[in-house]
Amino acid sequence: MNRPPYRRSDEIAAYTYQADIYCPACLIETMIADGIAAPAARDMPTDDVLEQCAGAIAINRDDDTTYDTSEFPKPVFLDCFTPDDSCARCHAPL
Ligand SMILES: [Zn+2]
Repeated sequence: MNRPPYRRSDEIAAYTYQADIYCPACLIETMIADGIAAPAARDMPTDDVLEQCAGAIAINRDDDTTYDTSEFPKPVFLDCFTPDDSCARCHAPL
């Protein structure tokens, strides 16, 4: 399975959160549903939302060994996927 050449293998393609994998848009929706993010997060860049939410609940995003994906999403890089991986919410292939 070849990736398009403009996508880098270390690009953040999705996030793991509460044992599921989400594309960035669905991650935001899930965080809003969980009450971690405000509905205004839909209009913000994913990384800004994560930065704000991490600050609000005292998560150190710079060291992902200090928190668990059950508490806060962690990024997943393109080269970690298998061709069968898809978003848990919209089921789009990642
Ligand atoms: Zn999705």
